Amino acid sequence: MPSHLASSEPLYLPFVSGERVAVLLPLPLSAPYDYTVPPGMNLGYGDFVVVPLSGREVVGVVWAPGEGSIDAKRLKPVRRRLDVPPMPEPLRKLVDWVAAYTLALPGTVLKMAMSVPAALEPARPVLGVKPAAEPASLGLRMTPARMKVLEAAARSAPIAASELAKQAGVGPAVVRGLVEAGALEQVPLDPVAESQPDWHRPGPTLSAAQREAAADMVARVQGRSFSAVVLEGVTGSGKTEVYFEAMAAALEQGQQVLVLLPEIALGAQWLERFARRFGAPPLQWHSDLGQAQRRETWRAVAEGRGKVVVGARSALFLPFPDLGLIIVDEEHESSFKQEEGVIYHARDMAVVRGHLGGHPVVLASATPSLETLYNVRAGKYRHLHLPERHGGAGMPDLSIIDMRKHPPPRGQWISPVLAEAVEQTLAAGEQAMLFLNRRGYAPLTLCRTCGHRLQCPNCTAWLVEHRLLGRLQCHHCGHSQPSPKECPSCGDEDSMVPCGPGVERLAEEVAHRFPDTRWAVMASDTITSPAQGAELVRQVTEHEIDLLIGTQIVAKGYHFPMLTLVGVVDGDLGLSGGDLRAAERTYQLLSQVAGRAGRAERPGRVLLQSFEPDHPVMQALARGDHEGFIREETEQRRAAGMPPFGRLAALIVSGADEARVERMARALGRAAPHGPGLDVLGPAPAPMALLRGRHRRRLLLKTSRDVAIQTVLRRWLAGVEQDPAVRVQVDVDPFSFL
Ligand code: ADP
Ligand code: ZN
Repeated sequence: MPSHLASSEPLYLPFVSGERVAVLLPLPLSAPYDYTVPPGMNLGYGDFVVVPLSGREVVGVVWAPGEGSIDAKRLKPVRRRLDVPPMPEPLRKLVDWVAAYTLALPGTVLKMAMSVPAALEPARPVLGVKPAAEPASLGLRMTPARMKVLEAAARSAPIAASELAKQAGVGPAVVRGLVEAGALEQVPLDPVAESQPDWHRPGPTLSAAQREAAADMVARVQGRSFSAVVLEGVTGSGKTEVYFEAMAAALEQGQQVLVLLPEIALGAQWLERFARRFGAPPLQWHSDLGQAQRRETWRAVAEGRGKVVVGARSALFLPFPDLGLIIVDEEHESSFKQEEGVIYHARDMAVVRGHLGGHPVVLASATPSLETLYNVRAGKYRHLHLPERHGGAGMPDLSIIDMRKHPPPRGQWISPVLAEAVEQTLAAGEQAMLFLNRRGYAPLTLCRTCGHRLQCPNCTAWLVEHRLLGRLQCHHCGHSQPSPKECPSCGDEDSMVPCGPGVERLAEEVAHRFPDTRWAVMASDTITSPAQGAELVRQVTEHEIDLLIGTQIVAKGYHFPMLTLVGVVDGDLGLSGGDLRAAERTYQLLSQVAGRAGRAERPGRVLLQSFEPDHPVMQALARGDHEGFIREETEQRRAAGMPPFGRLAALIVSGADEARVERMARALGRAAPHGPGLDVLGPAPAPMALLRGRHRRRLLLKTSRDVAIQTVLRRWLAGVEQDPAVRVQVDVDPFSFL
C-alpha cells in the first residue's frame, strides 16, 4: 500500500475561507487542482464542490490541502459546495489506491465513483400517487381503464404513477388523467425507507459445520476490523445461508453491506432468496438500471439509508459511509476483472476496500481461485470450509465420455451414451441440461468449394452464424451481416457450410432426436432482460421445460430441484489457447455446471464429453478433486514463475494506423526495462491482432514477486514518447491474453 494512504486523516478538518484546497476532478488528469476557499465558506475532506475549469463548471471532490506552486492570488475560488454527504474517506483512499495500482489516472478512477451526476443535485422528491377523493363525489366519468387503476391504487401503498399504470395494465395517460381530475393525489415516495431488510427475521436452522462458519464470520463483523475470509463449499452446501448470517450481524450493528455477484442481471433467484430471508429486496447496482433508480440508489447509499446493495463490480465505488461487510460471491469468476477503461479486479479491490474501511471481506466459492488459496496458505486469508451439501444431497456422479470411442453420428454432437442418458432421465419424469459454451448456430462458416472462411472485417475473429436472426455476427465488435447465399470469394452458390456447433444448432439436434421434449435455450443473447431470465427460470423450476440447453449463464447458481442430468457437450472447449488460467477456468466452470445436477432429493449425474479424457483437468473433475487439481496447478505456476509466484503486467498498444502502432510497440520494446527478476516478452501481434478496427500489439512484463511492478512500469512508460494516435493500455495482473 502506498505509504501516504496508511495514515488516517483527522475526522473533520474544515478548510476555511482564504485557504487553498486540492480538488480532484472526474477527468483524465493526473493530480488534483488547487482552488481557494471563498469568503463565508468552510470545506471538509470529501466535500463535493463546483469549481471553474477553463470556462465551464465541473463538480469535483475536496481531496487534500492545496500545495501547488501557483500563487494563491491567481487561483480561482470554489464556486459552491453541493448538499450531498462528503465522499467517505475509505472510498477516497480506494480511488487513490486503485489509481496507483493500475496506473490509471486518479481522475479517471474518481469518475467511476461519481457515475451518477444527477445524484449530486438537490434531492428532488420522487412522487407517487394514492387514492384521494371518491370518484363519485367528483362527478367523474368512470371507464374500465380508470376502474382498474383505482382498484390497483386501493390495493397498494403509495406507488409511482408509471408502476401503477403497469400494474393496472393501462397506459400512463389514464393515471395522469385521474391525478388531474383529483381522484388520485401525488405524495412523496421514499422507496428505500419503505422496504428495509429486517435482520430480526430468523434464518434456517444451520448444520454444525454451517453454524461454525457463520459464528466465525459474525464474530469478525462484530469485531469491526479488517480480515479476509474464504468461504469454500461445494454448490448447495449453504454458503449463501451462512453469509446471510454475517450480513444480519452487520445490519444489527446498523452498518451497510455490499454483495458483489457476477452476472447480476440474471440473479433473480438470489434476489428472491434475499427477500425471503430479510423481508425486503436489496438495492441493486448494475448497468441495466434506469437513471432514476441509479440516482436514488446512489443517494440512499451515500445517506446511509440504503443498507444492502447487491451489484456488479462497479458497486465497489459507491459512497458507503458505514460499510460493515463485503461479500464477493463466486470469487473465482473472471468477470470480476474489468477489461475496459480502468483495468482492475473487483475481488482484489474489494479486499483493499475492506482494509481501508476496517471491516471483513468474505470471498465465497465452490472452487476458490488459485491466487486466493495461495493467500490462505500464506496465512493472509482465513479459510472456512463447508464440506457437504445441505440436507444430505450427494454430489453428482461425474463420468467422462471418451468421444474417440463413442462418437456421435456425423453432423451431430450428442454421443449415443449421452443421448441414452437424456432419454432415461426424461422417461423418469426428471429434467436434463445440455451445456455448450457457445452462442449462436455455428462458430465458423466456410465455403465447401474454395475453403474461404467468413471473417469479421474489424476483428481477428470468425463470424458466428445466428440462424434465428438469419445473420452472421462478430462476438467481439458487434458487426453483423446477412448470411450470404454465395461465397464472397469464389462466388459459388449454396456452398457455404456451418462448422461446429453452437447452442442453436444443438437445439436443432435436440428437436430432431427428442421430438416430444419441451426444451429451451438459455444464452446471453436469447435472454435479453432480467424479466425474461426470471421467466425462464420459473418455467424450469415449475417443470414446464424438460430439457434446458445453455451457455455459461446456466452455470450461475441456479437451483432446479428436478434437474438430475447435466451433459457437457464439449468439455475440451476452454482448454485450447495459451491462457495462463485455461485449465483452472475449465475446472471451475465445469464443476459449477456439474453442480446444477441433483440439488434436491434425487441424485444427480454428470456426463462430460471429451476428446482428451486423460487431461489432468478431466481426471481431477472425475475424481472431484479440486484440492489435488490446485496442488498440481500451483506447482506448475511455481516452476514457471507465474502468478502468484511472480508478477505480470501487459501493455496493449492499439490504434487505427498499423504502422504507427508498430512504431510505438517497437519503441516500447527498445525501452523495455531489464535487470534481475525482470523479463519482457514481445512486442508481438496480439492474438486478436485486430479488434474493433484497431490494430493491436502486446508486450508482457514478468517480474519476480519482490519487484515493485508499478514503479518499473511508470519508468518504462515515461521513457517513451507518446503518440496521440496510439493508445497504450496497462493491464496489471492480466486475466485476458487476447
Ligand atoms: P450454496 O450457496 O453453497 O450453493 P445455498 O446456500 O444456496 O448453497 O444452499 C443450497 C440450498 O440448501 C438452498 O435452497 C438453501 O436454502 C438450502 N439450505 C442450505 N442450508 C440450509 C439449512 N441449514 N436449512 C435449510 N435449508 C438450507
Ligand atoms: Zn468484429
